[in-house]
Amino acid sequence: MTILEKFAAMDYEPAPEARNEADAWIAGRDFGASLYIGGAWRGAAGGRTFDVLDPATTKRVAQVSDAGGADIDAAVSAATKALPKWSAQSGFERAKVLYAIGRAMQRHQRLFAVLESIDNGKPIRESRDIDVPLAIRHFIHHAGWAQALDREFPGQKAAGVVGQIIPWNFPLLMLAWKIAPALATGCTVVLKPAEFTPLTAILFAEICDSAGVPKGVVNIVPGGPEAGAALVNHAGVQKIAFTGSSEVGKIIRKATAGSGKKLSLELGGKSAFMVFEDADLDSAVEGLVDGIWFNQGQVCCAGSRLLVQEGIADAFIAKVKARMGKLRVGSPLDKNTDIGPLVDKTQLDRVRGLVAEGASQGAECWQPDCALPTTGYYHLPTLATGVAPANVLAQEEVFGPVLATMTFRTTEEAVELANNTRYGLAASVWSESVNLALHVAPQLKAGVVWINGTNMFDAACGFGGYRESGFGREGGREGMLEYLSSELPLGAPLKPTAPAAASSESLTAGIGIDRTAKLFIGGKQVRPDGNYSLAVLDRKGRHAGEVGLGSRKDIRDAVTAARGAKSWAEATGFNRSQVLYFLAENLSGRADEFAARLTGLTGVAAKAARAEVDLSVERLFFFAGMADKFEGRVHAPPARAVTLALHEPVGVIGVVAPDEAPLLGLISLAAPALAMGNAVVAVPSQRYPLLATDLYQVLEYSDVPSGAFNIVTGKTAELAAVLSKHDDVDGLWIVADAETCGKAEAESIGNLKRVWTSNGRAIDWTSPAAGGDYFLRRAIEVKNVWVPYGD
Ligand code: NAD
Repeated sequence: MTILEKFAAMDYEPAPEARNEADAWIAGRDFGASLYIGGAWRGAAGGRTFDVLDPATTKRVAQVSDAGGADIDAAVSAATKALPKWSAQSGFERAKVLYAIGRAMQRHQRLFAVLESIDNGKPIRESRDIDVPLAIRHFIHHAGWAQALDREFPGQKAAGVVGQIIPWNFPLLMLAWKIAPALATGCTVVLKPAEFTPLTAILFAEICDSAGVPKGVVNIVPGGPEAGAALVNHAGVQKIAFTGSSEVGKIIRKATAGSGKKLSLELGGKSAFMVFEDADLDSAVEGLVDGIWFNQGQVCCAGSRLLVQEGIADAFIAKVKARMGKLRVGSPLDKNTDIGPLVDKTQLDRVRGLVAEGASQGAECWQPDCALPTTGYYHLPTLATGVAPANVLAQEEVFGPVLATMTFRTTEEAVELANNTRYGLAASVWSESVNLALHVAPQLKAGVVWINGTNMFDAACGFGGYRESGFGREGGREGMLEYLSSELPLGAPLKPTAPAAASSESLTAGIGIDRTAKLFIGGKQVRPDGNYSLAVLDRKGRHAGEVGLGSRKDIRDAVTAARGAKSWAEATGFNRSQVLYFLAENLSGRADEFAARLTGLTGVAAKAARAEVDLSVERLFFFAGMADKFEGRVHAPPARAVTLALHEPVGVIGVVAPDEAPLLGLISLAAPALAMGNAVVAVPSQRYPLLATDLYQVLEYSDVPSGAFNIVTGKTAELAAVLSKHDDVDGLWIVADAETCGKAEAESIGNLKRVWTSNGRAIDWTSPAAGGDYFLRRAIEVKNVWVPYGD
């Protein structure tokens, strides 16, 4: 072959990476004792092991200890023992340890990369240039956070012992995303690697030893789902951080419901890769290679749905096919390899099955003409065209090198298609018009948006999803918050609201015209669907009035009205602030009336009642002011890009307010949600709902747009359950008894809504903490929009 012919073919000779150091490490290790607990190595108590295979050869690489319940117990005990000292250490001390981990990893950088490729099958180019350097950056970046903890997160303390469960697709990187922030905040860790890929975690544990991590601060317990479940259910764990499938995420949400454990879930995705007609098509093709064929497509945020504008679709698809023909499928340890094997036979079978199903549903599946290695779990890169939106390849996460293509005509259609998924992890927008890209990015229901780029990550920029892609963020400031707890001052345990004993005397007797408060839905006072009402009694059991008895149907109507209140979310912060100021002004004008109502119903002294109304007004004022101040940030990652960390509303938030401080409690929950642009469906105090129904008129003449603030009176437990099961409710905040709170968490798994509960306790609403950032933080999703610059 002449040089010219070689150049045209772009053929490379094999460029194998040396694996002798990795082989020596594997050969020299006693994998029979591969649980790292309390700073020592041991085998599983039950003596079980599992095989670790090299997916390129299908040969066994090691037999690793398989942790069971007793081992998880031991690891949690070690972490519990280490916690007081570790969390009490100065930030500087912890920073030094994090830095030492990062430096030690740097010294073994190549060994980590080669091991990762042997274990997972990912091309060495990726493990060497992406996974391992990013993991190191996480530790070094978080050393800074450890030292800045008091300054940046005043009053917050370590969440405690954390259980961390990670998947096999980025074994070391996911470990770093989990362990670095946990150590920075002063938590201690029990981490369970995925059963397919434990090797780099074991090497990492060795590094911990040499980097001076105190015994018990990091515990690594390889094992399978049984070990994972034991960790999730362990009473000694205060926080669970999980990355994996949405299916297991939902199991974990249910298992931790009512336990008070903090929880973050980083789950699956079906991310859109959107190419507009003014895009630089060649760059977009290269982006697509990274978007879907990076790590064989086994990437939670893989751009697995190509949405391309109709006018350029044919030209673009032709370019994609030409590029696919040049992808090199082969040994992960060849430096020229683009696509290695899938992680395991089960994964290969799953991908093949989904491709066959997609084809049977009408998709045309094209693969380049390329020979596959004779051993190993390889799958050819696959392009599916003619994919209907309901096709399994458009809806299900394939987690393999399979791209589903659809076309769109208008920007609106593109956004609609992109959002037509139950997931919400990431999206790529390709257009040379920054106006168009920044117009589209905020409309996408995704936690990360890359403009003219894809799969960019950094330790300083949060990563995480909307909807069924989970909740919580990893990386940066938001990621630190996942390992910190800033408690509200809690009061006594709450009991379910029982109807007060009625007396024969009526408080309303002789008033004249009867008034029965209705519900407030879509800006109007409406009768409850069931046409039942609920008697409201004062503290002495005297009849004080009637309110509508809201039902499932009323909640559904209220949610529909809230969904429709788009103008509120789209309004400027200043706009919302003016409305909330006006609301405060109007409430203040009727302060005497509200105070009298409070005293009449609850029996609280006149002075205290007035203080509650005044504080409610003050709080409304505060959150009005925050509407245009609780803003996002701009990050400067080590790339030619800025990352805009935007604060977006969660969507529709259900608010279930307590009987204690019935006005202040409701305002303290609803005001921050409204300030950040959420629409609210509130269930006020069951016992004293008249405080909320008295608000209707105030709302009506305060310019609150219809549907932005809805109030459904009725029985707390019943209505909370309806809200928690409703898939169009994005967030739910509940102050109620333990059973109602626990059930709401357990039943929220349909759409994995963001649920916050008081965990069965009352809240001291008068404390400044109840009127600060606590609820503002929960009222937003952080969307990270990556905007590259330069040529
Ligand atoms: P998986 O959910 O099957 O397993 C993930 C981890 O959970 C493994 O360690 C497994 O042993 C453990 N596990 C399984 N059952 C469990 C149970 N009942 N209780 C506790 N732990 C249990 O997922 P997977 O197939 O290993 O990983 C692929 C998935 O991970 C994909 O859906 C992908 O999108 C997702 N993922 C998400 C992100 C993200 O940041 N959002 C990153 C990487 C991967």
